[in-house]
Amino acid sequence: MSVAAPRLSDVLIDLHTHSRASDGTQTPAELVAEAAGRGLSVLGLTDHDTTAGWAEAEVAAQRARIILVRGIEVSCLHDGISLHVLSYLHDPDDPPLLAELERARASRQQRARLIVDRLAEDFPLAYDDVLAQVHGDATVGRPHIADAMVAAGIVSDRDAAFREYLYTGSPYYVTHYAPDPVTAVRLIRAAGGVPVMAHPFAAARGRIVSDDVIASMAQAGLAGLEARHPDHTPDQVAHAAGLARELGLLASGASDYHGAGKTVRLAQEVTPPPVYEAILAQARGVALVGGGRGDQAGRG
Ligand code: AMP
Ligand code: ZN
Ligand code: FE
Ligand code: FE
Repeated sequence: MSVAAPRLSDVLIDLHTHSRASDGTQTPAELVAEAAGRGLSVLGLTDHDTTAGWAEAEVAAQRARIILVRGIEVSCLHDGISLHVLSYLHDPDDPPLLAELERARASRQQRARLIVDRLAEDFPLAYDDVLAQVHGDATVGRPHIADAMVAAGIVSDRDAAFREYLYTGSPYYVTHYAPDPVTAVRLIRAAGGVPVMAHPFAAARGRIVSDDVIASMAQAGLAGLEARHPDHTPDQVAHAAGLARELGLLASGASDYHGAGKTVRLAQEVTPPPVYEAILAQARGVALVGGGRGDQAGRG
């Protein structure tokens, strides 16, 4: 992808990362500081089903002179298949969206208990061990269970925990409530947000939805597909980019950084500046935060 303005040619835009407000390993402030230190111009904070990290990240972004795109990653379910929709710059107080996220977060807690119940039949693990890995009001996920298994000496790291015990479809796996993706896309748009489907073809994670489901999400207002993602093969990137063109969607890219929880690096995959600008142009909920390089600060 060529970039028209030379000024933008070295702009690093990573629109999908996680902090301790969900299952990343860094505080929001640490994440923002690391992003600024690595020379990113724009960081998207997209914790699972929560905006709890936004306030701390905002303060850090003002300080570090990096542009913060406030977002979330909404867990969805379609025909038993788990998929994720990123929401950028929506109103965090929008009641219908908030109600749906709270329902999913509560179900995630119950589901973590059920997974631990199953694990506890074979391993010395209790739900309190998992809670010890969850920071404050963070959204509970399998990575916290993985961290508890590491702390208990059952596995060496998160990756081993997922590979051996926590993968989708494992005998220990339990699902949780999540909205249908078409509902999620509509809720995000109604809250002024910009919905982008995360890692649409990451088949290594589990079953993926068909292109028809993505077409119905596009009908409902989906803005883009995250084509470049560390879990996508080159063929999957190409398919995502082709489908985005076909459906008139944007094609973004991002690292899905989780701190020390995964081996990916910040800005391992990035979004081209024109795609970023197109996302901002559609946002109606909240504004950008931070910046300070003059050219892009205060947009949106
Ligand atoms: P959950 O939200 O509970 O369904 O857990 C899904 C999360 O686990 C996603 O955010 C993934 O990034 C993370 N995850 C999936 N596989 C792995 C893995 N092999 N190592 C570390 N984290 C993973
Ligand atoms: Zn995660
Ligand atoms: Fe995801
Ligand atoms: Fe993610």
